[in-house]
Amino acid sequence: MKNENSTTHRQVAVVGAGITGPLLSLCLVKLGFEVDLYEAYTRRAQDVGSFLNLAPNGRAVLENLGLADRILGQGTAADSISFANHKGRELAQNPERTTNIMRGELSGALREAATGMGVRLHTAKRLAALEMTGGSRWRIGFEDGTQAEAGIVLGCDGVHSATRGLLFPDAPRASYTGVVGSGGRSEIDALELPVDGRFHMTFGLRGFFGYQVISPGVVWWFENHQETHERSFAELAQIDDAEWVALLADRHRPDPAVIRRILSASTGPVGRWPVYEVPPLETWHREGAAVLGDAAHAVAPHLGAGAALGMEDAYELALALHEHPTAPQAFTVFEQSRRDRVAAMAKQARQTGAMMTPDRWITRVIRDLMLPMAMKQGVRKGAEAYSYRPSPWPVQIS
Ligand SMILES: Cc1cc2nc3c(=O)[nH]c(=O)nc-3n(C[C@H](O)[C@H](O)[C@H](O)COP(=O)(O)OP(=O)(O)OC[C@H]3O[C@@H](n4cnc5c(N)ncnc54)[C@H](O)[C@@H]3O)c2cc1C
Repeated sequence: MKNENSTTHRQVAVVGAGITGPLLSLCLVKLGFEVDLYEAYTRRAQDVGSFLNLAPNGRAVLENLGLADRILGQGTAADSISFANHKGRELAQNPERTTNIMRGELSGALREAATGMGVRLHTAKRLAALEMTGGSRWRIGFEDGTQAEAGIVLGCDGVHSATRGLLFPDAPRASYTGVVGSGGRSEIDALELPVDGRFHMTFGLRGFFGYQVISPGVVWWFENHQETHERSFAELAQIDDAEWVALLADRHRPDPAVIRRILSASTGPVGRWPVYEVPPLETWHREGAAVLGDAAHAVAPHLGAGAALGMEDAYELALALHEHPTAPQAFTVFEQSRRDRVAAMAKQARQTGAMMTPDRWITRVIRDLMLPMAMKQGVRKGAEAYSYRPSPWPVQIS
């Protein structure tokens, strides 16, 4: 059924212009909604963060919208993902084609596509308050003291979502996963480390390391390791880049030498961050407002699935709002259709994480014994995770 909402209910405020927010805004505008997209920061999206690996299910969403080549052209394809243990022995290969792309480039390209379709993007608008007005509209308050109104509010404001906190004050907060991640870029002679189209992953003894030679002489890499004591983003940022890279090189001393070679050739800033996840929420919506993407269900990053899951959410929620006469009905249907998938991915991410960054020697020994079989199973499960196919788009894509 086509949406019969009043004009008021076709006015949507989307909070957060990371990945889920711009894509959701774009889908909604294509379906005839009027969308304001509010983002806390003023900096260019392109200037933010490290790279991420976008799985085929994320690409499938963009393909359905006719945007895959335009958006993912900013990244580099990985023809396969290979997994090795700390001795460099290959354990498994995932033959799926994925895309490595700077998170900021992805976000920036999505923002550009959204504003090109008519989405109104407002930067330096950090959500601080949310209340219902008499006419069942939302009044949205920002940190700078300004206000806006909308019929529907959709929180895509990430793992520490203010929307989630305001809608569900009793909901659990994001919790630290015990993992610190970092990522950077290195320059190494192309003869020494040639472009091979592969995303290489190593289960090191004391941390997990991944890299791809993106173009001749340029390597993108990331590292995850266990740190029981939680350090804030600000604390980690205080450490000098060279010191951080030296610490990582030391941590990976027992692992294949290529890891230390890549770290020693690191150029430019090295991003680093404590990793959080959102414990399962009782519900993702309240009246005419909902949370999605990381704001609703940030999963540990070990599967490289969060961005693609947020894209699936954005696409399916836009369709549900188009199909159902009221926002709460659409939210209910959306949640029912998404919960099992998200829970399965969260479980798989936790299991993979336990293998990647074991904190005790005994866990490490068991992991190394189990790894070959677990990896084969993991690749099979990965294929299941990638197998999501977006619902058909109901209108002609312009
Ligand atoms: C270490 C690490 C590695 C990862 N690797 C991968 C990977 O390889 N592949 C993958 O698919 N995923 C990966 N992820 C997960 C992925 O980054 C997230 O799932 C994805 O970014 C979620 O998108 P989002 O738009 O929901 O949230 P975000 O990308 O976090 O965007 C939220 C946006 O909201 C804005 N915002 C926040 N608060 C407010 C507010 N109060 N008011 C207004 N705006 C606000 C923020 O500035 C931001 O722009 C990784 C995550 C981590 C931590």
